[in-house]
Amino acid sequence: LGELLEHEQDLPSETPDHYNMPLMVNTGLAVEASNLLKRRISGVGLYRTEVPFMITERFPGEKEQTRLYRDQLESFSPLPVVMRTLDIGGDKDLPYFPIDEANSFLGWRGMRVTLDHPEVLMVQLRAMLKASHELDNLYVLFPMITNVEEVDEALRLLDRAIVELKEEGAEVKRPKVGVMIEVPATIYQMDALAERVDFFSVGSNDLTQYLLAVDRNNPRVSDLYDALHPAVLAALDEVARDAKRLERPVSLCGELAGDPAGALLLMAMGFTSLSMNAPSLPKVRAAIRRVPWTDARKLLGEVLALATPTEVHRHLEARMDEWQ
Ligand code: PEP
Ligand code: MG
Repeated sequence: LGELLEHEQDLPSETPDHYNMPLMVNTGLAVEASNLLKRRISGVGLYRTEVPFMITERFPGEKEQTRLYRDQLESFSPLPVVMRTLDIGGDKDLPYFPIDEANSFLGWRGMRVTLDHPEVLMVQLRAMLKASHELDNLYVLFPMITNVEEVDEALRLLDRAIVELKEEGAEVKRPKVGVMIEVPATIYQMDALAERVDFFSVGSNDLTQYLLAVDRNNPRVSDLYDALHPAVLAALDEVARDAKRLERPVSLCGELAGDPAGALLLMAMGFTSLSMNAPSLPKVRAAIRRVPWTDARKLLGEVLALATPTEVHRHLEARMDEWQ
């Protein structure tokens, strides 16, 4: 099977009834942007900037960050690279910037940290803008957004970074900007968010933990953590429909995108791209190439009518077996 999947990797991620589902990769540390990989993907759907920050001894400076980002943008160019601003806190601590909290996932995380420290965000935004000089593939993504004012503030800082750089004589272009949909509150603010940003990216890992009130890293409740819980699927379906109505692309970059059955459901919902860890590409592509879009739509309808996570899993397993 492995060989069979490998052979398929150079074929399009397209269903038998010709529905094209763009696949992207998640990166952090230098993923090798080989020509081979670049041929097989539509871009980087999530570059987690906190990952390189975790292996330094202090916040990397503007020059160092510019080099890091330039490396990503250049090596994947001309494909789009979605760069997420620093998403620390929760389970991701920097050794030189400890955050000690009782409820870290509900605490000082992502945008909450960087808006409290605009000097950190400004360096990062300036570095991204500089790094994209003469390239046209930078997309900026804001994590852990809870309300629209955070987006307004982040956009103000982005605009300020652009003005500063222009005053310094640099040639900069305003990149497309998106927000992560990973705090349940944002599901109910899609219209207001769409007025402000160009695209959405769903973080199903966090959205699942916040919808179900289950710590994504606590083994005691890991049985309850389930991205295929009917409530999570209903939420994802709603987000995809809203994004379509609002004419905004919507990607999903959590683990669910790397699960073949999950990927089929997301395709049927209307997600415009799926971003996953590179090792998941073969099995997801294989599933997409085997299952007609009309069948995936039917499957989605069946699954959305189920009431329990167990029923969802059983149903998906049975149907996936048929498509083997
Ligand atoms: C997510 O929350 O699904 C996501 C992609 O971001 P992270 O896993 O880095 O929190
Ligand atoms: Mg997240």
